[in-house]
Amino acid sequence: MLDDPASWITGIVKGFIASPENTLEKWGDEPAWGEPIVGFSSGADPLYDFYKRDIGPFYVSPLEFISHTHPDDEFKAEGLTVISWILPQTEATKRDHRAETHFPSERWARSRVMGEKVNVKIRTHVVDRLGEQGVKAVAPMLSPLWRGETSPKYGYASTWSERHAAYAAGLGTFGLSDGLITPVGKAMRAGSVVADLYIEPSLRPYTDHHAYCLFYSEGTCGKCMERCPIGAITPEGHNKNLCSKYESMTHRYVPRHFGFDGYGCGFCQTGVPCESGIPRSMKKK
Ligand code: SF4
Ligand code: SF4
Repeated sequence: MLDDPASWITGIVKGFIASPENTLEKWGDEPAWGEPIVGFSSGADPLYDFYKRDIGPFYVSPLEFISHTHPDDEFKAEGLTVISWILPQTEATKRDHRAETHFPSERWARSRVMGEKVNVKIRTHVVDRLGEQGVKAVAPMLSPLWRGETSPKYGYASTWSERHAAYAAGLGTFGLSDGLITPVGKAMRAGSVVADLYIEPSLRPYTDHHAYCLFYSEGTCGKCMERCPIGAITPEGHNKNLCSKYESMTHRYVPRHFGFDGYGCGFCQTGVPCESGIPRSMKKK
């Protein structure tokens, strides 16, 4: 593995998604996610300091996460790698969710709950496989340091964001709806692990954090505003409070209609030009 750790880790994530563990727990164990993509950022990437300054001082750095998990070891930020992955929604889930306008499709709600269970297992699996090789690691979302916080600038926030780690790893840029637009689209979930292992950081093919969003890059699109049933997306951006209220409402709908404790909205992620990839210019059409 040490000859080519990037390929080795990418294989671990992809192998997990190809296994029976990747399941919506219904329809003959239909997969929760499509083929993932994986990227790497340095634990010393200045973006992690910037997140602390911009989001709030409560934001926890990769070095702080790993030092907290392994208090007897000494780490250097430049020796750490943040491994990030994107799990795209399947074609079946996107098809079903595109057809809905107010309440989630069952597949979407299952991907939010059962699919996130798969994501949690990937985090643990990657940490365990690294551990077998003698490499210390931590999944920030599974660390006791992870918690919700209030950002003076952005409102609801947390001590770690999978999407911000993925942005640092060159996997995508933010859209008007706050979702991360990746080469496999915005209909996805992200995950990450911090490892005490140097891997050449992935190329970040953008300098603007909104580069892939047509609303910001060329003043067109805005389809996510139309898809949002509660008007939580406007030209000014994404209203997290309204969004979270709507998502809570779906928490009553899902158990009643689908028989499990679940929720989910995400209409802004399907039926939009950035759903399944980086959108092409609307000006050229
Ligand atoms: S739907 Fe259009 S405006 Fe909204 S995030 Fe995607 S590209 Fe940007
Ligand atoms: S998740 Fe739902 S409520 Fe929130 S912005 Fe997207 S469409 Fe609107």
